[in-house]
Amino acid sequence: MSAYRLTLEELTSEWQQRLDSYPPSIRQLTVQTAERHKEELATHFYAAMLQHREAAQFLSHEEVKTRLSASMANWITNLYATDNAADIQSVIAHQSKIGEVHARISIPVHLVLRGARLLKHHLITKLQQEHPEQAAMAAPFAASLIDLAMEVMSQAYSSSHDRNSRAEESYRLFAVAQNIASEKEKQRAALLDWENQLMFDVAMNLAADQLPRLCASEFGLWFRHKGAHGFEGSVETGLILDAMNRIDDVLLPLFPARQSDADGQNGMQLLRELREQAKSIAYHLDLLFEQNNELESGRDVLTRLLNRKYLSVVLNRQITYARESGSSFAVLSMDLDHFKNINDSYGHEAGDLVLQQFASLMLNKSRAGDYLFRMGGEEFLMIMVDVDENRALRAAEKIRQLVAAETFRLPQDATLQLTASLGLAVFNGHPDYQQLLRRADAALYQAKHSGRNRAVLASAAE
Ligand code: GH3
Ligand code: MG
Ligand code: MG
Repeated sequence: MSAYRLTLEELTSEWQQRLDSYPPSIRQLTVQTAERHKEELATHFYAAMLQHREAAQFLSHEEVKTRLSASMANWITNLYATDNAADIQSVIAHQSKIGEVHARISIPVHLVLRGARLLKHHLITKLQQEHPEQAAMAAPFAASLIDLAMEVMSQAYSSSHDRNSRAEESYRLFAVAQNIASEKEKQRAALLDWENQLMFDVAMNLAADQLPRLCASEFGLWFRHKGAHGFEGSVETGLILDAMNRIDDVLLPLFPARQSDADGQNGMQLLRELREQAKSIAYHLDLLFEQNNELESGRDVLTRLLNRKYLSVVLNRQITYARESGSSFAVLSMDLDHFKNINDSYGHEAGDLVLQQFASLMLNKSRAGDYLFRMGGEEFLMIMVDVDENRALRAAEKIRQLVAAETFRLPQDATLQLTASLGLAVFNGHPDYQQLLRRADAALYQAKHSGRNRAVLASAAE
């Protein structure tokens, strides 16, 4: 944050000066007008913003609408009702909070300014209609406090945003792999698996819509969710995505194609082109990996899973991705049951071993596009990409069973059984990732309190 930014005291004193430069009667009038019309102002604001394609992305969620409509009405009256230093400070602090939320969900600043302009215009029109004599003074007063609020919001927005962008930037370099060298081999193998499966299915004469799509394969999931982001900006990334789309959208729908197909696109030719595209993907993938070096920060030392450093970046990306592609994803919050007992009975080192085994169990059983974080202690979090509620719930239940069935190895040939409690939240369209995390945690809490060793699905609303 810039050292030259205005402090809370300086902002408060400016705010106070604004207030002092208008007679109390004008302030009264503005508060009363705002109070009288606050619901209408909020309704008008939402109706107008929803008309805006870009703004609607952030506002169309039902919960956002109901909650923000109420807080918008309060916001406008609180703005004008303050008249002492303590209140002003708390109003300013509140504007900062709003700015931080805006940054967290990456609302573009121009949309916030548009909203402010709409509100200002509507309120000033009311003042002019209802108090034509005083409006000449009341209108600039009304406008100046909204402007001040916007200034404070933007200040908080830009410092949060800088922080987020830095995290985003370092994540980009890092995102590609759990371990760059083995990731490369793994993804090449995954690509080959898909190709083999496809060749087999083609030989079996399966219908076009039954052939395995590259985008939905292990390789495709990994590349779309991680690889493409980690290698963003390279020419090769675009070439790979193009080749994937050509395979899925153009070539596969042409099957089954036989030697004698009338349009000239015969079976051999099609297969040859598929091969070519797959080869070019593998070739560009090698180039991408060569350009990147391994980066270690962001990974938990004990388990090699991601630590929470990049959680916000990953979640924001998933939210944007889900919104743009109309897909969904889920967050699974996991906490090992009675873990303290393990430390108490076998020692901390044994506990560490169990944590490592749990982590590798999760890694082995998750899909390449999924993300695994160690949140701290014996708490883990999985982001499951491209899943709907049913599928996520089935996966969570499977994980619960896997953990319960696993035999964990301890030093000196001892073994133990273990269970985990799971809280699952499926993306519900809400733009703020913290809401998703809170829902998953609440579900986990419920799982613990209803007896542990279970997966609980969070309700869609908070
Ligand atoms: P619950 O079923 O309610 O989750 O019970 P719990 O004992 O698992 O939960 P609690 O949160 O009370 O205790 C977690 C314990 O995990 C406390 C601490 O001793 C242990 N722990 C946290 N981090 C580590 C670690 O890195 N290594 C080891 N060995 N133990 C850890
Ligand atoms: Mg715990
Ligand atoms: Mg625990």
